[in-house]
Amino acid sequence: MAAIEMKNIVKKYGDGFPAVNDVSIDVEDGEFLILVGPSGCGKSTLLRMIVGLEDITDGDMMIGGKKVNDLAPRDRNLSMVFQNYALYPHLTVYENIAFPLRLANKPDSEVDEKVREASKTLELDEHLERKPGNLSGGQRQRVAMGRAIVRDAEAFLFDEPLSNLDAKLRGQMRTEISRLQKRLGITTVYVTHDQTEAMTLGDRVAVLKRGVLQQHATPRELYENP
Ligand code: ADP
Ligand code: ADP
Repeated sequence: MAAIEMKNIVKKYGDGFPAVNDVSIDVEDGEFLILVGPSGCGKSTLLRMIVGLEDITDGDMMIGGKKVNDLAPRDRNLSMVFQNYALYPHLTVYENIAFPLRLANKPDSEVDEKVREASKTLELDEHLERKPGNLSGGQRQRVAMGRAIVRDAEAFLFDEPLSNLDAKLRGQMRTEISRLQKRLGITTVYVTHDQTEAMTLGDRVAVLKRGVLQQHATPRELYENP
């Protein structure tokens, strides 16, 4: 059984042609899947349907073998990292990372243990009392990732997480994300329009064009058979 199964997923906004058109993709347990394609091809819409931030017009979304079409985002046990990081500016790094655990009413001792573990993994342990406004772009990105890894989610979902960083930092964070994902072995779906990210990060790449799945293959297969 795949970790995430998208079965004939359709999304229509109003009467226009579908933003996502009959897309079926299985994401295997522990796999790093890239969703790539030009702006407007439907990749964010597809990601938001996995997380539950967008209603599905037609088709089935399965997570861990269970149909989640009607489940609220908080009941899907997924961790999403947004393009703009969506950090809380008035909260410290510590509390930003702790946020999902606070929401779940975890005891302070558990919160503390998990936040310290995540911040060590992401080399944020020196910055726990700072606020996001005083951090560099790369540090903010790490805080957003800390908030994602602090809970035992079934999968990570990334929506163009590096697009606000300069080229050098982007390369560095790319390596970090790849290492982190391999180390945690957690199923990951990663949206990007960046070809380099698509070809270097993922185990498999799903190429979308105007809402339709064009290719679904390993980077090597895509390279040899573009
Ligand atoms: P991508 O992430 O690949 O840039 P999107 O998923 O954001 O693409 O958008 C796919 C298509 O759906 C685009 O034509 C976009 O304009 C349209 N779209 C996205 N969100 C909405 C919305 N809330 N209402 C209407 N149309 C939307
Ligand atoms: P991205 O390129 O990251 O998908 P967009 O600029 O396409 O970002 O979209 C930003 C937000 O605007 C998204 O939340 C999307 O749902 C919304 N959006 C995109 N296209 C439309 C549209 N045609 N009508 C209404 N909302 C839209």
